[in-house]
Amino acid sequence: DGDNTYLLPPVVMTKTEEQLPKYYRVLLLGAEGVGKSSIINQFMTSEFLGGGNFNISQSEDDRTVTLQVDGEETTLEFVQSEDFQENMENLSLDAFVVVFSTTDRISFDQAVEVLKQLREEVGAHKAIILVGNKADLARKRMIPADEGRSAADGYDCKYIETSAALNHRVDELLVGIHKQISLKCQSINT
Ligand code: GDP
Repeated sequence: DGDNTYLLPPVVMTKTEEQLPKYYRVLLLGAEGVGKSSIINQFMTSEFLGGGNFNISQSEDDRTVTLQVDGEETTLEFVQSEDFQENMENLSLDAFVVVFSTTDRISFDQAVEVLKQLREEVGAHKAIILVGNKADLARKRMIPADEGRSAADGYDCKYIETSAALNHRVDELLVGIHKQISLKCQSINT
């Protein structure tokens, strides 16, 4: 009969919890035309990557990327928006990627404003990454890398420059998102 179930040691529960796959929702914010869709498309078609114990699988239907790092599975779901306010309220989000175009100062100013508002709303324990995209358009550049980096520093964010068009440093961005989420989760749990 079923009486044996009462004899299961509590340690079994703990182990099950540890092995639950991790699922995070990542919101890409930024002005129209800065390259949010292009970046997500590159995530969806990436042929990973930087070696070691890293593996990737993708589902274009629900825009998720599953990373296996050192045997541990993490799924990232990507959503995007031009409107910061609209999404803050109704989505349970774990990380924010704020994108601007290095060729467009208006998009940069908007991104910095979003960083400021985000930090006020979500506090210190959420991963936020500032992305300067279109880095391939060197002659049209309006925002020097140093300026992007110091804006990010001011709000305790990571900074990375990408070219979605050339698929340059897009994998690094993906790894960076994963890393920042892991770090922020650790700092909450300790
Ligand atoms: P979104 O509105 O933020 O989703 O921007 P899109 O991804 O639709 O990109 C807007 C336009 O910029 C498209 O024509 C893209 O091909 C182009 N674009 C996106 N990323 C880059 C990039 O890194 N370099 C260049 N040169 N063009 C890009």
